[in-house]
Amino acid sequence: LAGRSYDVVIERGCVLQDFTRNAAPFLPQDTGRKAAFVTDANTHRLFAGRIEDSLTEAGLAAEWFIAEPGEGAKSWAVLERLTDWLLALGLTRSDHVFALGGGVVGDLTGFAAAVLKRGCGFVQIPTTLLAQVDSSVGGKTAINTAAGKNLIGAFHQPSIVLIDALVLDTLPDREMRAGYAEVLKYGLLGDADFFAWLEANGTAVLAREAEPLAHAIATSIAAKARIVAEDERETSGRRALLNLGHTFGHALEAETGFSDRLLHGEAVALGMVLAARYSARRGELAQEDAARTSRVIASAGLPSEIAALGMDCTGETLVDHMRHDKKMEGSGTLPFLLLRGIGEAHMARDVDLANVAAFLDEQL
Ligand code: NAD
Ligand code: ZN
Repeated sequence: LAGRSYDVVIERGCVLQDFTRNAAPFLPQDTGRKAAFVTDANTHRLFAGRIEDSLTEAGLAAEWFIAEPGEGAKSWAVLERLTDWLLALGLTRSDHVFALGGGVVGDLTGFAAAVLKRGCGFVQIPTTLLAQVDSSVGGKTAINTAAGKNLIGAFHQPSIVLIDALVLDTLPDREMRAGYAEVLKYGLLGDADFFAWLEANGTAVLAREAEPLAHAIATSIAAKARIVAEDERETSGRRALLNLGHTFGHALEAETGFSDRLLHGEAVALGMVLAARYSARRGELAQEDAARTSRVIASAGLPSEIAALGMDCTGETLVDHMRHDKKMEGSGTLPFLLLRGIGEAHMARDVDLANVAAFLDEQL
């Protein structure tokens, strides 16, 4: 494998209570130099003080790059400001940049670290559930351009990922549910027992009860790490399993203009329902499993019916968005992640997009 292994620390308090000890190997060894932190205005307001206190006790200090919250930070303009700032701080290749925030901060910081002096170290401190179970692990980093999301990026692995579930206490419920859609995805794609466990314990996870939440995070990361290790640079197709629900989901996000109307996790939730129903339609999945999928998603407070979105479009419009998907192959086929059972996703290469459009027309 091209990659190297790194630690993922999942421990309550590892950031908010005990940051300096956990991050010690990656902090400047010379107390005259400050650690470089990238964050957004929300996560800075919520967590910077706790981290500063921990650093101060050890005689260390931090400098902060504070982006505006939101997807807009994943841009060339912000990347340029960030890399200029890091160079002005005198960062070297053996230094580490700390990414404190959700997936936006993680993707931006990781990409900056990938290109800064051809690659410096970085530490992921994910503060959303989505970032904790998905974007902080796996080494994909990116920014957006006018042509689309995540089209400019690099594979660059963090040196360590520090996951403290305590930070989720302040996360808005809607963001919590959106991240939870990716948790459900790991069960649905490859682990029927985990899916059944989530079916029974989802309410406790969403309420941030310590033990169920820790179990959901650890199981999700283990699933992602296993799949990524098998296919780190997305060449064999194994990693594509992680895109369950994402082909339908991206089409819905594109149609709603990647706006707050539909968060990524909400689009993925709907996408998983659609993938299950379409699999049932093909006769590959039992109707009752498709119904169970949509029931579990709805009971987590996630959207499960596209008709309820009141979208003013046709199945063909959505399929058109799919035709622009980065996963579209040169041959003109779009691989689809479908289900043979709960916990049994597979990649289908024989999906006819006209048939998908007709299916979507019935759902809209
Ligand atoms: P985000 O980073 O925009 O965070 C969502 C909102 O929550 C922001 O307003 C943020 O300020 C706020 N927030 C963050 N932590 C908080 C906390 N603990 N308490 C209160 N508010 C908090 O969104 P996200 O959902 O974390 O990440 C989405 C991004 O992740 C997208 O850009 C997506 O492309 C990317 N992503 C990347 C990968 C990957 O493999 N690299 C995978 C999935 C998603
Ligand atoms: Zn996703």
